[in-house]
Amino acid sequence: ARFGADGLRDAGFADGLGGVVARVTARATALRRTVAERRFRLDFQPIVDLETRQLHHHEALMRLEPGVLEPGEGPQEFIALAETIGLTEDLDLAVASMAIAAANAVPEGRHLAFNISGLSTQSRGFRTRLLALLDRDPRGARRVMVELTESAEIEDEDAAAATLRALRGRGVPVCIDDFGAGAAAFRYLKSFPTDYVKVDGTFVQAALTSDRDRSFVAAMVDLSLAVGAKVVAERIETEEEAEIMRGLGVHYGQGWLFGKPGPL
Ligand code: C2E
Ligand code: MG
Ligand code: MG
Ligand code: MG
Repeated sequence: ARFGADGLRDAGFADGLGGVVARVTARATALRRTVAERRFRLDFQPIVDLETRQLHHHEALMRLEPGVLEPGEGPQEFIALAETIGLTEDLDLAVASMAIAAANAVPEGRHLAFNISGLSTQSRGFRTRLLALLDRDPRGARRVMVELTESAEIEDEDAAAATLRALRGRGVPVCIDDFGAGAAAFRYLKSFPTDYVKVDGTFVQAALTSDRDRSFVAAMVDLSLAVGAKVVAERIETEEEAEIMRGLGVHYGQGWLFGKPGPL
């Protein structure tokens, strides 16, 4: 987002193009170093069963040390930056290795979800390195699941499907994240083995006031059930939202109502 007109203004267009380039390069270098040196942490957010309100699993969310990026910049911004500088696979693998290690502390039968970009799943190198991380730590590997985020569209869906099948083959459940936010996830649900579908948070708010959005959530639930997947709704902030989602057949919920991201 910082690379558009706003980005140029934020970067101080008055400095001229040289200043902008220097600034972008500095941020890229800082992010590369942060990933390489593992100078980040994971926060964990609970996902609960909407019927019983019992904990079902956690999602790991990446957090940088202060000072790496500008104040106010969060994962949305640095994940986008990672994509533009070709750092996505390294970032996802760094998170994966930290998440698999953290998963060792999780009780048997519970999962720790970590996010991977759809972009990474297309890469054979990424697949090999991710599987190696899992094979090195069978205890952690039994306790993780993967959320497939859709920032950039997957071009090589066969390669992505092969990665996801390999994960599934090792008992790692697969969740399609932000479902309904983009058009591609619809195709992913058809092509990829899917254990969970996470309805995009925008539908949760919209469902409060819009019949049309409620119909869409109901349809997403039907479609998910048809392929044998369970449904999660994200960004649930109020009881009313939780109740609407439960009423529409959504199985699990995540959001500030149930717990903010924090230590495990
Ligand atoms: P996501 O995977 O959909 O993660 C959910 C986001 O919603 C998180 O933002 C979380 O903090 C936020 N959230 C949770 N509950 C609520 C709520 O009740 N209300 C509101 N308004 N927000 C809530 P976060 O941590 O800023 O992450 C944003 C996105 O960045 C993630 O969306 C994911 O796509 C990406 N991301 C985060 N960590 C990683 C990572 O380790 N690897 C990759 N590839 N992507 C990541
Ligand atoms: Mg996610
Ligand atoms: Mg999500
Ligand atoms: Mg989201």
